[in-house]
Amino acid sequence: MSFRSLFRNDNETKLGLLLIRFSLAFFAAFALLLSGGYLFQDHFIKSSYMHVRDLAILTENLDMLEKSLVEQEGGQRGFSMTGESSFLSYYNRGLADYRKVSANLLKRSSLTPDFSAEVNGLLNDTEVWQNEHSRATMERSLLGETIDRDTLQKGELAFRVLNAEFDDLLARITVKRDLERSRLMDRISMTLALTGAAALLTIGLYVFFIIKHIRRLIHPLAELDQAISAYEGSLEDSVKSNYTTSGELGRLVQAFHRMGEDLRRESGQLEDTYKMINALNQAGSVQDVYRQTLLHMRNLVQCDKVSIVMQNADRRFFSKAVSQGERLSLKEALLDSERDELRSMIQGGKSLLYDNWEIEHPSGGLSERVYRDGMRSSVHLLLKKDHRVIGILNLYSSRPYFFTSVKKQRLEKLVPLIATAIDNALQTSRIQSLAMRDGLTGLWNRRHFDEAFVRLTEEARANEGAVRPLSLILLDVDRFKLFNDTRGHQEGDAVLRHIALLLQAYCRFGDLPVRFGGEEFAVLLPNTPLEEAAEVANRLRKLIEFDSPSPDYRVTASFGVAQLHEGQDRQELIGVADSALYRAKAAGRNRVYTENEGLNDSA
Ligand code: GH3
Ligand code: MG
Ligand code: MG
Repeated sequence: MSFRSLFRNDNETKLGLLLIRFSLAFFAAFALLLSGGYLFQDHFIKSSYMHVRDLAILTENLDMLEKSLVEQEGGQRGFSMTGESSFLSYYNRGLADYRKVSANLLKRSSLTPDFSAEVNGLLNDTEVWQNEHSRATMERSLLGETIDRDTLQKGELAFRVLNAEFDDLLARITVKRDLERSRLMDRISMTLALTGAAALLTIGLYVFFIIKHIRRLIHPLAELDQAISAYEGSLEDSVKSNYTTSGELGRLVQAFHRMGEDLRRESGQLEDTYKMINALNQAGSVQDVYRQTLLHMRNLVQCDKVSIVMQNADRRFFSKAVSQGERLSLKEALLDSERDELRSMIQGGKSLLYDNWEIEHPSGGLSERVYRDGMRSSVHLLLKKDHRVIGILNLYSSRPYFFTSVKKQRLEKLVPLIATAIDNALQTSRIQSLAMRDGLTGLWNRRHFDEAFVRLTEEARANEGAVRPLSLILLDVDRFKLFNDTRGHQEGDAVLRHIALLLQAYCRFGDLPVRFGGEEFAVLLPNTPLEEAAEVANRLRKLIEFDSPSPDYRVTASFGVAQLHEGQDRQELIGVADSALYRAKAAGRNRVYTENEGLNDSA
């Protein structure tokens, strides 16, 4: 951060800037205060102190002046009385000191204006005393005169008066000096008190401001702290806390809050995804995979319509499942006229996003119907297996821009799971049906017959009122051992395949033709009474007789027909039909016997 940027209005770091600016202002104010204090002391205290000092110097000088006068007076008196030269030098030293000090006093008299008149007066008086007494007497003594007692006494008296004048002045100077000194002390105390008070006030303001703004920090920090500690437990609680703070920390808290919500949404979606994966893994059939895909997709994406279109091995498209609103349909429908539209959708090999159908949507009858239905955005995810497109998962929303490329990318990650689940379910049902088929003829085998028998008898019984009739035809190729022996086993197989084709082609919808084993077949006929079943058997008998795989030979078969009766089980029904077949063989073959026919003949 540059220094200049501190003073730019920058919303992003308002509080931080405010604190920095205020601190700078505070230091400026403090510096101003200190320099003000210094100037104040310079003006008042220094001058006051100088005054006291000048008075002290004045006192000292006056003391020295008085001392020089004492020396003069003592020297002059001693010399006048004794004539000894040591008094003379004493006098001279006093005189010299006097001159020096009096000159100094005159020079400095302007510094102590209160006393300059008095000092001048005093100097005048000393001058007079010197002229009239000290120096005059000394000069006479030097000339060898004897000074009379009276003169000496007069001189001494005059000196005492002068002394008293000195003392008086010194006393008044001392009083004045004490006064000035106490004033100096007052000023020092006042300066200290004022500066201290101002400093305290400034610091107080600063602290007040800082605390006030730190409280702005503490509140959101506490909220943030609360939110973060709530995250330790669960996401739910932290999202509930209420965020009121504004400013950069408030924004931080709100961003954190939004992050929390995102995280919660993500974790919800992750959970939904896991649920879907789990449901897909547990799906028992392809239909179940379709159903689970639709249910979970709608839940996960919250869109309005989901559909699955599959492409089979011969590249035809089938609508397999559609869910819209609360409805979910697993009705299969061939999409023949929509073939080109669907082909162009899978052509690029990539999933497609149409975020606003008003601007662009896939062209074709299917999409037109969806558009009329009110859908305004869509994603078409390609279901692939080993790089081949096996289907399309279509998601639609009535809101334009409901789907985004981010959403599409996420869904694309899920799609392989769905494609694999569908493919696995298809494989499983293929393997299951293989296990139920006969390898030579492709007809259902005995195992499927047993299972179907249970299902059909249950359905027959579940019907309210009368139990629906269920009949069984057993047929066995006549003299097939001989056929194999004469025409070869290969040709025998061809005959068995041919009979299987006839059974499949001429059975009604819902009948169940089965290869029972060897050259024996069965047809289970739901909703069919014995007489009708016998007619079916007769038709089949004729078909086999007159429609052989080769004009070189003819094949015939014998038939036994029975109807399921109350209390009978599967084995018993088969047993009854088998014995009718046995009687048909015994009666000469190539004929149909019902359970009641020929009972007496065989006996
Ligand atoms: P019948 O008229 O009494 O039924 O005489 P049949 O010769 O058909 O009866 P049998 O039970 O003695 O012989 C059945 C023959 O069917 C034995 C076997 O060679 C032949 N067979 C069974 N399964 C197959 C098969 O899968 N392929 C061929 N080619 N023949 C089979
Ligand atoms: Mg047989
Ligand atoms: Mg046979």
